[in-house]
Amino acid sequence: MKSLRDLFKRLPVDGNVRDILRQFNMSLQIDNKAKSVRELAEGLGFSVDRRALPRGMSGRLVQDPFADNGYSIEVNKFQSVQAQRWAVLHEIGHYFFHVDRSDPLADSMYLDRGEAAFYVNQAEEREANEFAAVLLFGDGALSAARSLYRDDLQKLARHFGVSEATVRIALKQF
Ligand SMILES: [Zn+2]
Repeated sequence: MKSLRDLFKRLPVDGNVRDILRQFNMSLQIDNKAKSVRELAEGLGFSVDRRALPRGMSGRLVQDPFADNGYSIEVNKFQSVQAQRWAVLHEIGHYFFHVDRSDPLADSMYLDRGEAAFYVNQAEEREANEFAAVLLFGDGALSAARSLYRDDLQKLARHFGVSEATVRIALKQF
C-alpha cells in the first residue's frame, strides 16, 4: 500500500470515513503543529485513552460500548508522544483491516488475547503500520515536506509528529 487509493480499496467504509482520512492526509499541520491524531480518531468514532499499559505495549484496541464506533484506542502514556501518535494511527488500521465489525461477539473473541502478545499476527502488524504510513506520508505528503526541509530528519520528524526512525523508514518507502 502506497497511496490512499490502495488503502481505500481495502476499506469497506462509507464516504464520510474516506473524507476524514483524506482530509487528515492533505493537511497534516495546524498552526505549525502536527495535527492531532486524537481528533482524527475521535472524528472516526473512537474513544482515545492514554493509559499505563504494560512495558513494551504501545497500544491496543478494546471494545467500548460508550465509544461512538464501539471501540476505544488505548495508548501507553509512558512512551514518547511520537510513539503514542503512531500507535493511534496503527490501531485505527487494525480497526479497519482486521476487526470483524459486523459481528460484535466475534470481535470480543478476536480481541481477547494475552496482554503482552495482543496482536501476534505479523502480517496484520505490518498492515496496520502500512495504514499509518500511508495516512501520514502517502499521496505526496512526504515529497511536499521534503521540498521544504530536504532530508533534515529532525524537521521532517517534527512536521509529521513521528520519530526520526519512522521518517528514515518512510524515506525508503515513499
Ligand atoms: Zn498492532
